[in-house]
Amino acid sequence: MPRPLDPTTVDRLATLYRAGTNDAQAARIVGISKSTAGVWRRRLAIDPAPKQPSPLLSPLTLAEKWRTFARPVEGGHMEWTGPVRESGTMAFTHHGREYTARAAAFRIRTGRAPAGRVTAECDHPGCVAPACVEDDPGRTRLRAQYADVIGLAAPAAACAEGHPSDRHRRFNRDGTSYCAACHTTAAARRKAAA
Ligand SMILES: [Zn+2]
Ligand SMILES: [Zn+2]
Repeated sequence: MPRPLDPTTVDRLATLYRAGTNDAQAARIVGISKSTAGVWRRRLAIDPAPKQPSPLLSPLTLAEKWRTFARPVEGGHMEWTGPVRESGTMAFTHHGREYTARAAAFRIRTGRAPAGRVTAECDHPGCVAPACVEDDPGRTRLRAQYADVIGLAAPAAACAEGHPSDRHRRFNRDGTSYCAACHTTAAARRKAAA
């Protein structure tokens, strides 16, 4: 009889095995013996891991791999020590998928994929701390609160072009606001003229 495992651990094992993790690696990650891991692989009816695991199939979860690249610094912020693209974007690959450092940080905090671009909303340069990053809706909410606090929230229901504020208003870091619809139009116009 294998040692009884809680359903979360069994799920985790199944995920690791399907990702190509071998028994010894899986045992280490979830904290069970290698023989128990082997018994559960047979129970789950998942074939043994390939002898030469693909470099894409890291035994680490996304969060675990992310943490190997992030260094805590003073004030609860975190700095990136991982790969940086030529464009300057901090990004890494996990199970064949590329994640920016901040998009992964957002997933780690919220458990979901971000909507749009992820930025750090703190003032620590290059911060990637999960607690400091926001996606488009989160950033808009946060900056709107800030604008409200400092008394800058624009009272108008629409911009000069008539775009409704509840859908199109966005905020700069300093709490000033602009219309995202007009911003997009202006950017397209600039691009066409270039
Ligand atoms: Zn930060
Ligand atoms: Zn507008």
